[in-house]
Amino acid sequence: MNPGNPTSHCPICESTLEYYFSKTYPTYPGSPFQDAKTIDYVKCGHCGFVMSKTHAEMEPEEWAALNVSWHHHFERNIEQRITNQPPYADQSLALSMLDKAGLVDLDDCLDYAAGYGTMAKFMSKYFGRSIQIFDRYVVDEQSALRYVDAANLGKYRLVVNSAMFEHVLNRESLEEVNDLVADNGVLMLHTVVCETVPKNPDWFYLAPMVHTAFHTNRSMNILMEQWGYSHSMYSPQAKSWFLFKKDHPGIGRIPALVRDINREIQTRYFFDKPGFVDYWKGF
Ligand SMILES: [Zn+2]
Repeated sequence: MNPGNPTSHCPICESTLEYYFSKTYPTYPGSPFQDAKTIDYVKCGHCGFVMSKTHAEMEPEEWAALNVSWHHHFERNIEQRITNQPPYADQSLALSMLDKAGLVDLDDCLDYAAGYGTMAKFMSKYFGRSIQIFDRYVVDEQSALRYVDAANLGKYRLVVNSAMFEHVLNRESLEEVNDLVADNGVLMLHTVVCETVPKNPDWFYLAPMVHTAFHTNRSMNILMEQWGYSHSMYSPQAKSWFLFKKDHPGIGRIPALVRDINREIQTRYFFDKPGFVDYWKGF
């Protein structure tokens, strides 16, 4: 790639992607790259979405090997695992409150890309609710979890998606998630979204090397419009957004409900607004 030249088009808004910056990652035990690897990041001039051009152009085998080696590396590093995981407990609490309020339906819920089902286990143990889960790469046959087969995936009034949006290489992977949400449903999303992705190779969220996509408030707002979501809520404790399809019957109740819950627990637990809640302005 020639830095400075337009490369391709934004998977979110189709505007031109331009070279943004590069970062060189050292090799590590098990890496498919024998030497340090330089990753080139490109940025959309319209919505600010940033992605790794280098990852997007990798051979599928190379991308798979990178993921396997990182997963391995990660599993052995308990310290890192504990500090970087989604806040499963608060996600379960937030979902339970919204279920009680009738805004989401845990009886018709799929946790997509759920891995070993950490949140489903927590939800079952502490909240007594059993949710369905799906993962293309992981199935724990021994567990009592309700894994759904790919052939049996349908539409759900609630889809949960944690720690996936930052790993995608193309638009299709994002569409797979939205395709599961019913026309009047809710998508709960856990990822990092900021106002502007810093032009800084040392920015914390570039690591680990398997992070490939960096969303902005503007790019998320565009996705919501394209997908027919009109309102959102955000919980800083759960680090999750709740996106409501425009035909969701409870949209009119959201502002009062958020006010009531926050007053009840005397915390700004939820934020809400039409469009995407732009909670994070910088890091
Ligand atoms: Zn864009």
